[in-house]
Amino acid sequence: MSDNGQNVIELPGSITVRDLAQRTSASPIQVIKILMSNGVMANINQLVDFDTAAIVASELGFEARAETIEEAVEEAETGEIPLWRQLIADEDPAKLTNRPPVVTILGHVDHGKTTLLDAIRHTNVASGEAGGITQHIGAYQVEHQNQLITFLDTPGHAAFTAMRARGAQGADIVILVVAADDGVMPQTREAIAHARAARVPIIVALNKIDRPDANPDFVKNQLAENGLVPDEWDGDTIVVPVSAKQKQGIEDLLEAVNLTAESLSIKANPDGKVFGTVIEARVDRAKGVLATLLVQNGTLQSGDTVIAGSSYGRIKAMFDFRGKRIRKAGPSTPVQIMGLNDVPAAGEIFRVVPSEKEARAIIEERQSREAQVAAQTPRATLEELFSRAQAGEDKELRLIIKADVQGSLEPIVKSLKDLEKDSEITINVLHNETGNVSENDVMLASASQAIVIGFNVTADAAARRLAESEGVSIRLYDIIYRMIEDVEKALKGMLEPEVKETVIGQANILAVFNISKVGKVAGGRVVNGEIRRNAKVRLLRGGKEIWHGEFSSLKHGKDDVREVRQGFEFGANLRGYDDFEVGDVIECYILEKTSF
Ligand code: GDP
Repeated sequence: MSDNGQNVIELPGSITVRDLAQRTSASPIQVIKILMSNGVMANINQLVDFDTAAIVASELGFEARAETIEEAVEEAETGEIPLWRQLIADEDPAKLTNRPPVVTILGHVDHGKTTLLDAIRHTNVASGEAGGITQHIGAYQVEHQNQLITFLDTPGHAAFTAMRARGAQGADIVILVVAADDGVMPQTREAIAHARAARVPIIVALNKIDRPDANPDFVKNQLAENGLVPDEWDGDTIVVPVSAKQKQGIEDLLEAVNLTAESLSIKANPDGKVFGTVIEARVDRAKGVLATLLVQNGTLQSGDTVIAGSSYGRIKAMFDFRGKRIRKAGPSTPVQIMGLNDVPAAGEIFRVVPSEKEARAIIEERQSREAQVAAQTPRATLEELFSRAQAGEDKELRLIIKADVQGSLEPIVKSLKDLEKDSEITINVLHNETGNVSENDVMLASASQAIVIGFNVTADAAARRLAESEGVSIRLYDIIYRMIEDVEKALKGMLEPEVKETVIGQANILAVFNISKVGKVAGGRVVNGEIRRNAKVRLLRGGKEIWHGEFSSLKHGKDDVREVRQGFEFGANLRGYDDFEVGDVIECYILEKTSF
């Protein structure tokens, strides 16, 4: 207890919203709300600095004190081991074999992380493919003296923290880049604290050694002060002078990685349970969801069914970091996979399950648990916000706006703000950004009792589910004046009943046939739910809607059918549209009017 009777809590120099919630025994949404009431927009994986965290803590009845690095380490030592390490601990020790070390590069901004990653990539990319890698998938492998090393190619703390926040921290070794002309800076200290808390050994790359104002001894002193005593001073931190820009010292640095790796037990069971961490994921227009996974145990194979958070799917194709198609990937291998039904979050643990059916069952069970929790949180539909506004309880309509391109955002925000003039209610645009409606948007909306409005975008499946359980309204438009009209009506209390859309199933187009007299027919298989002859249809390519309308025919074999269930194949014509392609997704939905 402090003098004023508050509980004392020790916090690091920066902390994610998720960790802060955990340490203060609050829900992440509570923390996000307090941050917002203080003018800070944050999502669950975002880092807030100590001062901000202290304000939140104080509103939750705690007095915050700065945690020292030693305390962070102590906490990690007594705290939980990353999930993947626990999972490996479950493997039969006799079956564990060495795997390449996974290295991540941290350091203060502008100290040369990106340049160093590029220098390593160019000098040592495994096996002599001239030209090296043209694409970045978030990780790559290099070879040094016949030893493979895996580098996580997402410098910066956000990715690292997101991974740590999920207990999935994937790196075995941290290379801490410190510019020899600038020395230890706030983010250097933060990186040290993170690496220590995760119990990951640090190798220092003393960068920019070519600069005339480089002062290595001064920086080594600073490092020692921060608990990283250089080995030449009888400490146990390897400090390697490098110039990322001139590609000097790279071999020495890789040598240090191999040395450090040898002293650690970096093992996995290539024949064991298959799991790992999602490094990054995105939607590609043509290929659908592309996810980079780091295999941490077992051997991932093309055709396996993978589950990661609330995304799942069968691996349709798998590529190595050079973009070469591969069929198998063992421990420490980064791969890019095609076939997930939705974008998983970075840092999420993935694992292989026996079937898509099992994956769905796992996700459904988790969601029903989450829904139970969410049922107790207040709802934020447009009509309720409006009635509260009318009752004088709330004089503000809060909006989160998503649009396909930056160019649309500004006019939308401006036109919406213009509506305020004729109304007693203020319009507060909390957040506007390009991109599909994501889970983060819904979380923000839920925390702030806001509505999410999308223009020419769709809502990710995970976002839709969260919106449903949190009772958040997502309204999607493709015509600006309709959107403006709706908000205007909401302000005036004359909004028509909302038409609620329910997705009833999705199917993949696997083949396109040209049949004389009939025209182009899409042949496909229903991957979840069912598709119905009389339901609405939207065609998705790379996660984006490219057409919507209706079926003009739906057949199973030769028969006309009213519906086709999950797992079954079908042939279909779309009314007035035949520009579909293999790989497109047919989504069926029904519209129901819900009254206010
Ligand atoms: P990051 O923010 O840590 O990723 O840093 P960058 O890799 O973007 O580097 C920041 C700036 O420092 C760039 O202008 C680089 O060209 C420069 N830089 C990086 N490494 C070196 C180096 O070894 N020597 C010199 N002189 N400049 C470097």
